[in-house]
Amino acid sequence: MNNKKVLYLDMDGVLVDLETNIQNHFKEYPYQKHLYKNFPDLINNIFLDPPPVEGAIEAVKKLEESGKYDLFIATAAPWGNHQSGSHKRIWIEKHFGKFFKKKMFITHRKDMLMGDYLIDDRTTNGAGEFRGEHIHFGTEKFPNWNVVVEYLLNQN
Ligand SMILES: [Mg+2]
Repeated sequence: MNNKKVLYLDMDGVLVDLETNIQNHFKEYPYQKHLYKNFPDLINNIFLDPPPVEGAIEAVKKLEESGKYDLFIATAAPWGNHQSGSHKRIWIEKHFGKFFKKKMFITHRKDMLMGDYLIDDRTTNGAGEFRGEHIHFGTEKFPNWNVVVEYLLNQN
């Protein structure tokens, strides 16, 4: 029987360094800054090829190798950027191959996901109301992947 814990991973700010990609975009196209600075999610192709967050790829590997967790993606795809869902799916495949094949939830209602843990850098899109444990990435308690992996590997 599978007694692994179900663990969801948010993308932007957890696996994906979207912020760096946005800043690089504004450096390359400074005239777009006034258009998009408040709505960077709407920049064309912004979700297609951002760099990973430091340590994220290795962390997923370690969590998988522990045998303790069944890993899923839980990400909101901005409604106003209709390419974002497919670009996020392409990003996942580029960095993880087939590992997350058919294990990706695109939703603005993370509170409706059933599971044990959600690693998310924000409380929006239902993350703050997730019914398992919300591991709030980037906070003092969980500042980076090293701390999060150590915490999770020490859970029963
Ligand atoms: Mg996020």
